[in-house]
Amino acid sequence: MSVKILTIKEDILGANTENAKGNEELVDKHHILMINITSSPGAGKTSLIMQTIGRLKEKARMAVIEGDIASSIDADKVSGEGIPAIQINTAGACHLDANMIRKALDNLDLDHTDLIVIENVGNLICPAEFALGAHKQVLILSVPEGDDKPHKYPLMFTQADVILINKTDVLPHFDFNMSAFSKAVSGLNPAAAVYPISAKTGEGLEQWFSWLWDALEQRKV
Ligand code: MG
Ligand code: ZN
Repeated sequence: MSVKILTIKEDILGANTENAKGNEELVDKHHILMINITSSPGAGKTSLIMQTIGRLKEKARMAVIEGDIASSIDADKVSGEGIPAIQINTAGACHLDANMIRKALDNLDLDHTDLIVIENVGNLICPAEFALGAHKQVLILSVPEGDDKPHKYPLMFTQADVILINKTDVLPHFDFNMSAFSKAVSGLNPAAAVYPISAKTGEGLEQWFSWLWDALEQRKV
């Protein structure tokens, strides 16, 4: 008897891509810039978001969508700064999908928002496959993870509009080869902006803020 093989993955991804387009149309209608931040767990997504809130909250009306398997620790931090925050608990799923983002968008005041920051679930694999409708893909790699990650997770690195190398404050303690990393990234994605930063000390963050500000300016029609 022959075995019937069902290829479900393509159907799921196809439907998700359609939903992502719907999300992008919705935020476009409100002249909002929506960015999707991805990284491994502990690379510094929330720290970057907190720094960005501190710098931009007087200039742009921000909202944050937090994706986590469980808990609302990150959303509580954001909310403590007076920024609207929606926590999505994925109940075990290791990525956000477009449907989840749509539900979050339905719970935000889009008429009074300029910038939506999505913090994806910490994972360099499937978040690359699930489009959310964000205009820009932000990838954080932290120094302790090593400079070989572009070779191991090429899809994630290929899709990024900006790559932040975080935790430069610990560079002296790790064998992170910056030129090997840059070479690997430019082989995969020569258009990506690459900025070394420390979300802890603030070093290098000016480049990130100005990249984000430019992206915001381009959205405002
Ligand atoms: Mg976080
Ligand atoms: Zn996943």
